Amino acid sequence: MKQLYIGGAWTAGTSERPNVNPSDLSDIIDTYAQADAAMTEQAISAAAAAFPSWSHSGPQQRYDILQRVADEITARADELGDLLAREEGKTLPEAKGEVLRAAQIFRFFSGEALRLTGETVPSVRPGVGVEITREPMGVVGIITPWNFPIAIPAWKIAPALCYGNTVVFKPADLVPGSAWALADILVRAGVPEGVFNLVMGRGSVVGETILSDKRVAAVTFTGSVNTGKHVAAKCVEHMRKFQLEMGGKNPMVVLDDADISVAVDACVNGAFFSTGQRCTASSRLIVTDGIHDRFIDAVVAKLESLKIGDARAAGTHIGPVVDESQLAVDEGYIAKAKDEGGKLVFGGGRVKCDTEGFYLAPALFTETTQEMTINREEVFGPVASVVRVKDYEEALFAANDTAFGLSSGICTTSLKYATHFRRNAEAGMVMVNLPTAGVDYHVPFGGRKGSSFGPREQGKYAAEFFTTVKTAYTLP
Ligand code: NAD
Repeated sequence: MKQLYIGGAWTAGTSERPNVNPSDLSDIIDTYAQADAAMTEQAISAAAAAFPSWSHSGPQQRYDILQRVADEITARADELGDLLAREEGKTLPEAKGEVLRAAQIFRFFSGEALRLTGETVPSVRPGVGVEITREPMGVVGIITPWNFPIAIPAWKIAPALCYGNTVVFKPADLVPGSAWALADILVRAGVPEGVFNLVMGRGSVVGETILSDKRVAAVTFTGSVNTGKHVAAKCVEHMRKFQLEMGGKNPMVVLDDADISVAVDACVNGAFFSTGQRCTASSRLIVTDGIHDRFIDAVVAKLESLKIGDARAAGTHIGPVVDESQLAVDEGYIAKAKDEGGKLVFGGGRVKCDTEGFYLAPALFTETTQEMTINREEVFGPVASVVRVKDYEEALFAANDTAFGLSSGICTTSLKYATHFRRNAEAGMVMVNLPTAGVDYHVPFGGRKGSSFGPREQGKYAAEFFTTVKTAYTLP
């Protein structure tokens, strides 16, 4: 049984929860302690008590700790990748890639601790000096989803610690294994008592307690739109800073002049890899008339060549859906798309494998329209729909005709259309001839409209959220 980490001590919870392998339901990875509200409050107290000292710690100490975390994650990438694939269901190469990305994020922010600068500017008043500096926020509540069990915690915890904040971290219920392993690494890397706290448990208990405690200075959240709205409302009530990364309905435009093999690879990867369980997944494929039929034939041929199976088995391209309720959601959307007139040209049914798991064949719909539910709501599974359009202008309109705005892609060999699309796509991230999913770790990540709220995550832009600016005037 894996414990909570509160105030510098491994601590038993009030109950425990099994971590089940979605590729093999008979495989229980471990059990994980669950905190109640009082234990969450203890973690917040510990983080609040540790803040004065940690916020004045030097950059060398923060650099050293974050470097050690990066080193250990890198050294254990195979083992941590295996754990991640086992608990979440993405394939081993994807899982190992995510683990290494977490290491790179810690390494990047170790350097940012040393690079923190301010500005000294002349005052408009003679003799007065003006100094602009960044200071940490205080106790940061970190609430994360299940689909990136180590990378998302990393891209919130690393900058929080780098800039001198203390942390209360609540991972998603479905993936406590990677979160616990990361906490264990942070502890051994030398994070001082109270600076980092791991509180596993229900959103309605642990999450709510974090949101309700006025000692929490900032909350960074990634998850669904509905929970995000609730987080926002609670943070406004407390007048605290918050950051939300939520869903997507990301479009991938394929124009007549696209290199068809580039387009097929980008669409199949973007829509279906990681079982489509990515906020940046290309769930809407917007295809112009001239290439439409050839493109669909090529995508179907590619899908036929993919192996669905155990996330950790060699040769698997697509692992299982994360759990039973997500599988029911995916199947509900597939049924609704059929009812509303979409044509299912590939997959959509359960797949039988050697072990009992939540296996679903990637589903591809054609003949869909922008009005259909399948093109309006996030599925968060291996389901994509094709919208046929007559030209670039219609494609751009359809791409932007959504409540979301996370990632938006185009496949074209035209510089003119690529340039126009980069400027006019209403999204935080734009991809030309690349999948909508798959980003670098040292540049800003985030979206517009219903996908995101608040400052961007990652890269040096992360400082906007994890610090507050002070302007000091001095008359010597
Ligand atoms: P979710 O909203 O169900 O849960 C997210 C987290 O919030 C979990 O830790 C959960 O326990 C917690 N939570 C639930 N209720 C809470 C409450 N009342 N108070 C406080 N915390 C609470 O989301 P999920 O199903 O884990 O993740 C899938 C969603 O995440 C998808 O919509 C996906 O698009 C989104 N996502 C977005 C990004 C991004 O960067 N935009 C990245 C990954 C996932």
